[in-house]
Amino acid sequence: MALVEKVRLSLGTAIQLGLEAGFLDPCFTTAFLMTYRDGKCNANCAFCPQARESTSSSDRLSRISWPVYSFDEVLDSLDTIDTFRRYCIQSLNYPQAVEDVASILKELRVKTSLPVSVSIHPLDSTGITRLHDAGATSIGVAFDACTPELFDEVKGKKRGAPYRWETHLKALQDALEIFGQGNVTTHLVIGLGETEKEAADFILTMNKMGISVGLFALTGVRGTTLEKEKPPELSTYRRMQALRFLISHGYLTETEVVIDSEGALKVELDASLLGVLLSSGEAFRTSGCQGCNRPFYNERPSGPMYNYPRPLTPEEAADALALTGW
Ligand code: SF4
Repeated sequence: MALVEKVRLSLGTAIQLGLEAGFLDPCFTTAFLMTYRDGKCNANCAFCPQARESTSSSDRLSRISWPVYSFDEVLDSLDTIDTFRRYCIQSLNYPQAVEDVASILKELRVKTSLPVSVSIHPLDSTGITRLHDAGATSIGVAFDACTPELFDEVKGKKRGAPYRWETHLKALQDALEIFGQGNVTTHLVIGLGETEKEAADFILTMNKMGISVGLFALTGVRGTTLEKEKPPELSTYRRMQALRFLISHGYLTETEVVIDSEGALKVELDASLLGVLLSSGEAFRTSGCQGCNRPFYNERPSGPMYNYPRPLTPEEAADALALTGW
């Protein structure tokens, strides 16, 4: 019997594993697991249904529901599926979190040699090494906010939460040493009140450090402090996606990123070259670890699609590119 008794699975993952009824999607390439605890996270991020002070149902993370299963049952069900390309473990912040994630990793490693990413609160280098040695192939520590001031407001001091900007940065630097470049990620939520310049500067800084950025659109989930906040303008989100894509592929340098008089992000690249680089629509797909698609994490099935979990049609790609205004 596994040391960890229970885990949560994203509903989509549970369906793919045959643990719930539903549509079997051959494009569902990442299995999402979340640590289980009886209660909420010790942290208090203003947008998160798992936050200490949120009144949301505790089976939610963003728009997705995460039912609880016996971990043994989940491990058995893994024998029935070969469409996953990656596993992703999301951890809440609580005293046993590292122990639990290490145990989950060890059991998964008996079953699979696929990449396993862990998204967790900042750890010291001993904790990071522990997860690396237990079988994690990449690690993410989510900044979510792009400036120290916004960070304090949505998940740090002003939330009575344990997080500090400097500690997040240090954990990511240590993770780079232990996991190596290309295996360390952070998250950025667009729509928390940042300017396009602030978000762009954050993406540029992370890219320079060798940390990849997964983009999320603010989603006002009922029961969270930010439940009434609107999602970001789609045009702003498209510019951030395009910037992240161009920078992370080395198609753009920092000096080619400018802000116009309206505060909107522009890039100094030839329009025809931009068309070549962005017309496939790749830039507008879900970003994060390789192979991650997080279907409907931020968006209602009726749209708008902030992050496409699949290749875009030529029309969708043209519309997304046009929205950048570039
Ligand atoms: S640390 Fe993660 S799970 Fe905990 S409140 Fe913040 S976003 Fe939610």
